[in-house]
Amino acid sequence: MHYVRFRRGQNVHFGILDGDIIKILSGSFLDPASKLTEAEVPANQVALLAPVIPGKIVCVGLNYSKHAAELAHTVPEDPVIFLKPVTSLADPAGEIVYPAMSQRVDYEAELVAVIGKTLKNASEAEAGAGIFGYTCGNDVTARDLQTKDGQWTRAKSFDTFCPLGPAVVTDLDPRNLQIRLWLNGSLKQDSNTRYLITPVAKLVSYISQIMTLNPGDVVMTGTPEGVGPMEPGDEVAVAIQGIGRLINRVVR
Ligand code: MG
Repeated sequence: MHYVRFRRGQNVHFGILDGDIIKILSGSFLDPASKLTEAEVPANQVALLAPVIPGKIVCVGLNYSKHAAELAHTVPEDPVIFLKPVTSLADPAGEIVYPAMSQRVDYEAELVAVIGKTLKNASEAEAGAGIFGYTCGNDVTARDLQTKDGQWTRAKSFDTFCPLGPAVVTDLDPRNLQIRLWLNGSLKQDSNTRYLITPVAKLVSYISQIMTLNPGDVVMTGTPEGVGPMEPGDEVAVAIQGIGRLINRVVR
């Protein structure tokens, strides 16, 4: 299933994307009590929103070895995790705002796991079973500020630096998905989640040993090689096999 969140007029709804039609749900797809209503709407008549509003956005750095190599980092012994604030969310087709404070803003295509159950000290099997579904993400990064600061909070946290979407997809095996990114139609990243150093379930299990993961929280699983800069006016598209395409424009 492809679950979406969207705005229609003044109202925000959740729904199931079925071809060109969205079947409207009574509430969030993360709420087990949510049901299909009678209502449906053509997908091209609504504005898709980031499919979830997470309590927290947990990210992992350097989770593909070729990406670690291109940044001249050694692969860490334990996964290096960091957080992005919820205020960094951006919608599918929304704008990425280039901050005045930076001269180098990079794209990072990432597979994103959406948590469906409360997970604390979860085993790998429990973590895998606790993932509701997957979406595309772009871990936008002010690379100059990341280097300058030595830690990553400022570089990763500007408003609009976390586009997510277009849908949360269930029944997907995260171990073998093609992940690609185009900048202005030119292919820049082209890899597969089979090259993740720490696979998704193991990563979610690891994070749950540190912090409780709640339904709606998201885990960004790291970017493959090929990262590079964007400029105002650019169009950036993340595509993951079986999920769809997350397209955003960079503005000043
Ligand atoms: Mg990243």
